Amino acid sequence: MKHIVIIGNGISGITAARNIRKRSNDNITVISGETEHFFSRTALMYIYMGHMKYENTKPYEDWFWKKNKIELVKDVVEKVNTESKQLVLRDKGNLHYDVLVIASGSKSNKFGWPGQDLKGVQGLYSFQDLQLMEENSKNIKQAVIVGGGLIGIEMAEMLLTRKIQVTFLVRENEFWSNVLPLQEANLITRHVRSHHVDLKLNTELKEIQGDANGKVKSIVTNKGEVIDCQFVGLTVGVSPNIEFLKNSGIETKRGVLVNKFLETNVKDVYALGDCVERKYELPGRRTVEQVWYTGRMMGEVVAQTICGQKTKYEPGPWFNSAKFFDIEYQTYGNVWSELKPNETEFYWEHESGTKCVHVIWDKITNQFLGLNTFGIRMRHECFDKWLREKKSIDFVMEHLAEANFDPEFFETHEGEIIRKFKKATSIISQ
Ligand SMILES: Cc1cc2nc3c(=O)[nH]c(=O)nc-3n(C[C@H](O)[C@H](O)[C@H](O)COP(=O)(O)OP(=O)(O)OC[C@H]3O[C@@H](n4cnc5c(N)ncnc54)[C@H](O)[C@@H]3O)c2cc1C
Repeated sequence: MKHIVIIGNGISGITAARNIRKRSNDNITVISGETEHFFSRTALMYIYMGHMKYENTKPYEDWFWKKNKIELVKDVVEKVNTESKQLVLRDKGNLHYDVLVIASGSKSNKFGWPGQDLKGVQGLYSFQDLQLMEENSKNIKQAVIVGGGLIGIEMAEMLLTRKIQVTFLVRENEFWSNVLPLQEANLITRHVRSHHVDLKLNTELKEIQGDANGKVKSIVTNKGEVIDCQFVGLTVGVSPNIEFLKNSGIETKRGVLVNKFLETNVKDVYALGDCVERKYELPGRRTVEQVWYTGRMMGEVVAQTICGQKTKYEPGPWFNSAKFFDIEYQTYGNVWSELKPNETEFYWEHESGTKCVHVIWDKITNQFLGLNTFGIRMRHECFDKWLREKKSIDFVMEHLAEANFDPEFFETHEGEIIRKFKKATSIISQ
């Protein structure tokens, strides 16, 4: 029997472990330095806001692992020796593997700002970050969040529930406009402000200042403005967590480099999830993708390969979803922040200014290329199918109502959207 060792008990590592167990009797060990059991990282904010307890974020009961003969080890892997096939653990000594799966996730970025290690300054990624945030945000009045992405917006929502005043520093002209087209970035910018967040656009962090006890007391922006605060959230993106692989012989660039089978350059060593960088391109997809469902898909794929059925990782069209306070966001296919030369668009926004649909298609072939929706829930399987089948924009608009997934009794808008689409496209084609 082989010993399969998985570093990381996040969605990627755990999906791999479960799917290997379904197919084989090999010994499986999962190591994590973070928590004893797998929990849903995406639910961290709900623990802080009191909607859930940590216990509720664990998708499996604690007895599940023993019953399925998956050994859990709480420790940190400090070094990987690929020649002797040994891991060096911080507390428990050396561990031999026959097959190694690296699923070590991401870590929050820090860009070397003066004062970034003061007390009260932190990112939000791990369970320990959440505990630290509990501690750091106790009895405080003002917080500054740096970096306007999806984790930053969650942090703002979390702090606001504790009545902490939030200032948000965002480098771009509009919120998340490096990812979203201007129309959606405008909508979200207005929405963030409507929640009484002091959103400062075109503004960067220059320095964090501390008091005599080493605790943050203010920040200075690149415009020279000094803002008093007792908490600084650094949410300027994440990077693959791969330092412990230094000198292991495993090839890395931004992440652990893998081929189509999620194999690294070293035999019997695989990598998946947030820590991975694909060596090969896939149309419309980035080579490093740090989202939940890609980790899960990779976990299913790598398990098949390890168990003898070599399988390529083929994730299909891109999709993602998130929440900006109470506005849900979904994206299917590719909606870039700026149109590509072959693309054209239709944008509809509800009079409330809190719902929109943005569709992109090829202006020569009419092929549907992507859709963003805010405030209207759509069905993933419809868009996934239509994108894979390269449906035309007319087909998609005719069937738009079928994709609606809003709860019963929600107001529907497809009639109006399609009317306006027809009007807009008849003007374009005249
Ligand atoms: C606050 C927050 C909200 C998010 N919301 C969303 C969302 O809404 N939708 C979405 O798609 N994605 C979201 N994400 C991203 C998503 O959580 C990640 O893409 C996903 O968790 C990555 O899974 P993973 O298994 O690859 O890595 P991780 O979940 O990071 O798990 C890796 C594990 O490996 C452990 N580890 C690393 N190195 C070692 C070592 N040397 N020794 C021992 N253990 C080690 C880590 O401690 C960690 O426990 C969110 C992330 C955060 C932080």
